[in-house]
Parts: sequence; C-alpha cells; structure tokens
Amino acid sequence: MDRTEGLEEKIGYTFKDRELLKEALTHSSCQTGSSYERLEFLGDSVLEMIVRKKLFELFPEDDEGRLTHMRIRLVGEEYLSGWAKKISLGDHILFGYGEIMNGGREKESILADVVESLTAAIYLDGGMEAAEKFVNSVISNKNGIDIPADYKSELQELIQKDGLPHTISYQESGREGPPHNQVFTMDLMIDGELMGTGKGSSKKNAEKEAAKVALEKLNNTV
Ligand code: MN
Repeated sequence: MDRTEGLEEKIGYTFKDRELLKEALTHSSCQTGSSYERLEFLGDSVLEMIVRKKLFELFPEDDEGRLTHMRIRLVGEEYLSGWAKKISLGDHILFGYGEIMNGGREKESILADVVESLTAAIYLDGGMEAAEKFVNSVISNKNGIDIPADYKSELQELIQKDGLPHTISYQESGREGPPHNQVFTMDLMIDGELMGTGKGSSKKNAEKEAAKVALEKLNNTV
C-alpha cells in the first residue's frame, strides 16, 4: 500500500510531480536519503506569507498588534497539528520503524512540520495560487481561524478602562484527583475581592476559566 495515496483527494490538489509529494511526507527516520526537512524550511515561509495576507484581507479593522497575535497562533504547532489531524495527515507520513514505535504518527511537532513541507511541495508543484488554495481550504473565513478568546487579557483590558490601578491576582484554592490527572481550582481576585473561580487540568487553564467567570460577571454589571 502506498501511504501517500488518498491524500491528494483530501487536500484537493493533484501533484504533477509525485516525487515532491513523497519527499514532503518522508520523515528522516526512513533513511532513504531525502526527507521533508528542506521542504519544511521553505514551507515555513510560504505558509507565513499566505497567512499574513489572509489576515490582512480578513481583518481590515484590526491593527498590526492584533494581526500578529492571530498570525502567531495560526502558524503555531497547536493550530497546524490540529489542521493535520482533521485530514489524518499522520496516516500518510512515511516513517522508519524507530519513529513508528515512538508514536511519530501522533506527534504534534511532526504533524505541524509536515503541514509546512506539504505547503512548500504544493507551492513548488503548482505555484503560489495552488498553495494559497490549500491554506484557504482551512483558513477560509473568520470562523475558520477559530481563535480562542484570551479571557485573561480581556479582563485586564476591561478593568483598566477607568484608569485606576486595579490589581488582578490568582490563588490556588483546591486540587483534586490522582497525581497524573489532577484538577486545579483557582480563585481570581480583583482588588482582593473574589470575582471568579475556575477549574482546569492545569493552574493556567483554571485561571482562564476563572477569568471567563469574572468577565461574565462584570459584563453583566459594569
Ligand atoms: Mn517547522
């Protein structure tokens, strides 16, 4: 079975040069000579260019600070590997047995790298327009960007509106579950007043939840 088969239908692009596709999908553990690293090097930049252009067009009202914030997220490992998982890209990557046994197919860093190498391969094979089409199939509209709200920053901005020196602080108020599966509870205080409590798999996630609760509370009162 050829692992590269079936991917072209999923991404909506047919390669003229299938060797290029194969190279984009070959992990260095294969030890067959060419692997995806060189294409990844190029793809990093092609993807970045397309994403920046897309954000520029989609968000005419936003300043460069906010666009940068979105850009960092869209070319980041988490977003790219999520995109890869939607098309089961891992199933199409060619690995040596060492990496297969290491769970390479599931590794987010590898999945993100292959999104980059694939973007470069499409660019070399079909030009910028084809590469853009590939990226646009994921990032086609504002919804496709799916940026999770940054509750902690939003809260910070909201309470700074009156120009007074308010302080937000977080404090752990609980921890449950076995060591490998703990649930943290964090309290959020504004000027020492308890404004929200959140639970999460990490302190950071619990803080985000607490900030969301506090925001809801404030948006209903302020
Ligand atoms: Mn990379």
